[in-house]
This record gives sequence, structure tokens and C-alpha cells, in this order.
Amino acid sequence: MQNVDVVVVGAGLAGLSAARMLAMAGRSVLVLEARDRVGGRNHGGFLSNGVPVEMGGQWIGPTQGVVRELIDELGLQTFPSYDEGDNLTVAQGRVVRYADETFGLPADSAMEVGRLWMQLETLAATVTTATPWESENAEDLDRQTLDAWLVANTDDTVARQLFAVLVPALFSAEAPELSLLHFLFYIKSGTSLQTLIATTGGAQETRVVGGTHQISERMAGALGEAVLLGAVVRTIRQDADRVTVEYEGGSVMAQRVIVAVPPTLAGRLRYVPALPALRDGLTQQMPAGSVIKFQVGYDTPFWREEGLSGFVLSLDDGFSPVLDNSPPDGSCGVLVGFLEGAHARRADAMTSEQRRELVVNTLVKYFGPKAADPFDVLEQDWNAEEFTRGCYGGRLGAGAWTNYGAALSAPVDRIHWAGAETAQIWNGYMDGAIRSGRRAADEVLAALVAALH
Ligand SMILES: Cc1cc2nc3c(=O)[nH]c(=O)nc-3n(C[C@H](O)[C@H](O)[C@H](O)COP(=O)(O)OP(=O)(O)OC[C@H]3O[C@@H](n4cnc5c(N)ncnc54)[C@H](O)[C@@H]3O)c2cc1C
Repeated sequence: MQNVDVVVVGAGLAGLSAARMLAMAGRSVLVLEARDRVGGRNHGGFLSNGVPVEMGGQWIGPTQGVVRELIDELGLQTFPSYDEGDNLTVAQGRVVRYADETFGLPADSAMEVGRLWMQLETLAATVTTATPWESENAEDLDRQTLDAWLVANTDDTVARQLFAVLVPALFSAEAPELSLLHFLFYIKSGTSLQTLIATTGGAQETRVVGGTHQISERMAGALGEAVLLGAVVRTIRQDADRVTVEYEGGSVMAQRVIVAVPPTLAGRLRYVPALPALRDGLTQQMPAGSVIKFQVGYDTPFWREEGLSGFVLSLDDGFSPVLDNSPPDGSCGVLVGFLEGAHARRADAMTSEQRRELVVNTLVKYFGPKAADPFDVLEQDWNAEEFTRGCYGGRLGAGAWTNYGAALSAPVDRIHWAGAETAQIWNGYMDGAIRSGRRAADEVLAALVAALH
């Protein structure tokens, strides 16, 4: 049986970042990856004209210093997302063009959104991101859903509808599915709600030339044979001296294991001895959201000629938000858009032809008849992926942070936990995934040194 210092389960950004750090520290490591590719929730696709598009995570932005540095270190290039011209909001059958902070809403509702927004930012400032369950008023914030808070704090139906669109845009889940504490933790971990939502100055500011999956590919390339593809991990056994990781096709012995898969999938592995009840309970409390991502290719970015940025939020339609995702040279036009939360779950029952029709018809509503004839429509249904089972990531519902939060990243003897869901900074994002891998590698390195004394 192969014997290494550390086994890493999962070759997404978290697992590969952990393995990279361990290898740099001179430790022997083996990364077991179930798929026939690395990158996990980062996955490259190509439109039929050869233009690369991301089918998973794609944007980076300010305050994401860790992913930024890694991109530079790996020799990848970036470019700004297209963000010029007017945005569109669709509400009550009308398409409204706007260029300010109002989201194109009627003045009263725009003011109300602003008021709620400030209230949420102020509440988020009270959350302790390292230990959200220990935040001031944690019990109060965790006992209600975000939806219950919105209902209690505004009667403005348009303002509520706007949040009903913004929340799935961030979580691929609906406001009733999130604890208020989780929402506040998440926006603070990503700096602010404003930073999460914005393109320029926010999380959608910058793209990677050729696609983000190359970050994982380059890390894996440097690790060489230390990354094993097609290795589906099933069982993790540990005793006082070692851990044994069994995968389809073999098993490997190590001092420590880092499990870098989404919590819901970590909960489907077998552990011998069984995990403490709190840790298993945590994985039962952290389902992923639902999202189907589309990349729609046109001969030209025709909306730019009409002074439009390509950004659309719809309070009426399932296919929202939509953004300009054209290549840096604008040689063709690409619109990226999402079916999220309840819309994604409903669309799961459709055929891909029906989904394509829904997407194209909705784009015609937003941008007019020129949108009717894309040369390609790519879709990626993350809910259907056996080794992801939903995106953008795991979330916690009411009561879960205060009851189970302490088990999210606390090691269980020789087992350490990584993954975007465990990050304190940029939780749920690529930057957070990398940070989580490095944090788990730090834990393991300290434990290996301690074992010598
Ligand atoms: C549609 C979409 C859009 C997104 N947009 C953005 C964005 O614009 N910006 C941003 O920063 N983030 C974005 N994200 C989130 C970002 O992609 C993720 O946070 C990040 O990639 C997660 O990395 P990870 O390593 O934690 O997990 P994963 O990428 O999920 O990696 C886990 C790995 O474990 C493997 N695995 C699972 N089970 C097993 C098993 N039993 N045995 C072995 N291996 C297993 C999986 O195949 C996978 O490779 C987006 C995600 C999606 C899906």
C-alpha cells in the first residue's frame, strides 16, 4: 500500500492549494480526485467558435488578494469585465434602463432598498467571521431566516422582490433557505454586500484570460504524479498511528488527511470510527444551492452598440442575472446568465432544448430581436454533477450556525477540513477556497511537527 505524509481528497482549488503548500514544505502528498479532471467547481468550456468560457467560477475582485497573487504567480493574465453603458432591470413587464444606484426601481422602492441594504451592512459588521456563533446577538440573528427579517422590516413588495433576485444571485438559494446570521457572515467575509454585488469595484470586476480552471491545472501540473484522477474516495479509517484512505481502485496510508470536498459530499463518505455526531450533523445542515449556468454566443456584442452594459436583473423572469462575458478583444459577443435557486430546480425537470428556448426567449425580451439567433448556447447544470451536487456552495439555514458551526472546520483527530465553505474570508469564493486549503495545510504541518516531539 502506498504511504505518504498527507492525503488530500479533492483536486479543486482548496485541495490543490493545500497539496501545493505541503509539497513546498517538503512533505509527500497524494491528491485523490474523483473526476477525470482537476478544478472542481472551476470548469473550462469552449463555444463552437473556440472562445473559452467558464462553466463554473469565473470572476475575481478587490480584496481577493490570495487568488490574485496565485494567478500572478502561475503566470496567468487577467482583464477587466466589460462594465460600460446602461444596465437593465425588468419588473412588472417593463424593461427599465438605468445608469445609477437605483437598480431602475421606482424612487420609493429604491430608497427602501437602500435603507434595508444599510441596515444589513450595519448588522453584518457585528458578526465575528472566525466564530459566527459567538457573534453579538448570534442567537437572535440565527433563529430567523433572511426572508423572515425582510418581511418584518419592509412592506415594500418591489424592494422584497429585488432581494428575492439578489439573494439567489449570491447563494443560488432563496432567502427562506438562509439564516440571517449566515447571510450576514457571508457578506462580511466578502467585505460587504456592495462588494459582492458590484462589477467594477466588486467581486465581478476581473476575469482570467483563458479561464479560471487553468489555476487548478497549473497547480496540478506542478504536483505531477501526486495528483491521481478518477480516484473516488469512499472510506477514511483512522487509528492512533495513521489514517487509511480507501478509493475506488486502491488505498493509501498517511499521517493526516485533508478532506477538501463540499460539506454535503464530505458527509457521504464513510468514516471509521464514525465521526462525532456534531460534525456529521453539520454536514446534514449544509446543503448546496441550485444553479444552471449558461454561456450564450453571438457574432458581435450588439448590446454595446446600443449603449448597454449587458447587465440585467429581472424581477419577473427566471433567467437572471445576465452579464456581458465577451472575450477581451470583443471579437464575438457572449452573455453569461443563470437559473438560480427555485428557478434552477424547476428547470431541472426540463429538457436542455426547452431550457435553451427559455434562455433565448428571455434574452430577446431583454435585448430585442438581435438576441434571437445565438451561434451557440452552453449550459452547465451543477446540481446534476455527482461530485459537486449543487452550487455556488453550501449554506446554513436557521439555527445551524449556533448549533453546529463549531464543527465546520475543527479537525477530527487526523482528519482536517478544507473547501470554500470553511473559509473565514471570501467564504464560498475561489479566494476563500485557496485560503481554506492553506489553513488546513498549516494545521497539518503543525501537527506533523508536534508528532516528532
Ligand atoms: C456556476 C458557478 C459560478 C461561480 N462563480 C464564482 C465566481 O465568479 N467567483 C468566485 O470566486 N467563485 C465562484 N464560484 C465558486 C467557486 O467556484 C468555488 O467556491 C470554488 O471553486 C470551490 O473550490 P473547492 O476546492 O472548495 O471545492 P470544489 O471545486 O468543489 O472541489 C472539490 C473537489 O473534490 C472532488 N471530489 C468530490 N467528491 C470526491 C470524492 N468522493 N473523492 C475524490 N474527490 C472528490 C470534486 O470532483 C472536486 O474536484 C462559482 C461556482 C459555480 C459553480
